[in-house]
Amino acid sequence: MLDFNHSSGLAWAADDNIKCPSFTERVSELIDQALSAEHKAQPERDYLGASRLGENCSLKLQYEYTNIPKDKGFSGQTLRIFAAGHVFEYLAIRWLRLAGFELFTEKPNGYQFGFSVADGRIRGHVDGIINGAPEALCLTFPMLWECKSLNAKSWKDTVKRGVSKSKPVYAAQMATYQAYMEGSVPGISKNPALFTAINKDTAELYFELVPFDASLAQKVSDRAVTILKAAEVGELLPRHTADPEHFECRFCAYRNRCWDQLIGEVLA
Ligand code: SF4
Repeated sequence: MLDFNHSSGLAWAADDNIKCPSFTERVSELIDQALSAEHKAQPERDYLGASRLGENCSLKLQYEYTNIPKDKGFSGQTLRIFAAGHVFEYLAIRWLRLAGFELFTEKPNGYQFGFSVADGRIRGHVDGIINGAPEALCLTFPMLWECKSLNAKSWKDTVKRGVSKSKPVYAAQMATYQAYMEGSVPGISKNPALFTAINKDTAELYFELVPFDASLAQKVSDRAVTILKAAEVGELLPRHTADPEHFECRFCAYRNRCWDQLIGEVLA
């Protein structure tokens, strides 16, 4: 008689009361350890990433810029989510090119298009630049291309409210890129950017033409200068909220560092 019943995903120790990690958990753990080691081996950023400048909390950006240690590093799952985002972006590039878009994602030397200002202390790398598309779309070039992969809920909200309202961080990112790339790609701020969002659950696509927002770019740039200056003189910028339970704080990687003392006082 065959008996394969013992080959379920659960493993049990000799003492039946002790549950061992399942096979999935053990393999996932190995992968996550490898991903974490790979991530830790990468050099820390020594600049303010323009993609982050629309972040609501200046203090958080200051922590990031000055490489203050996070409460804990990225989990293996988060690193896997980041990696999956790159794969979705790769797919979007392929699909747009198949559809006739002249989409450039890197220079002949293999580097991404980008910019560096303030003696290299503010830098950004763009997802791509479009320099041609099917005529029927009546687009003008060059245009910035920005791509994000979102879960179904986030994607639907972006479709419903538009990128500026739903994802102001991305809108700030595009405005900043358009402003700072104008020097090396003349005309990129005259034409709307093409924002692309992929629904990670259903592979649905969303495209939005986003006109250059000069006042937003200026606001973001001024903010970057404030962060650089504060870091230079060692002053901490104010928190964006007085409520440690604010939803952005609850998900912030610096929450303990930022609020522990106050939380202690509140609880005392
Ligand atoms: S915990 Fe909140 S206030 Fe503190 S850095 Fe993070 S987002 Fe800003």
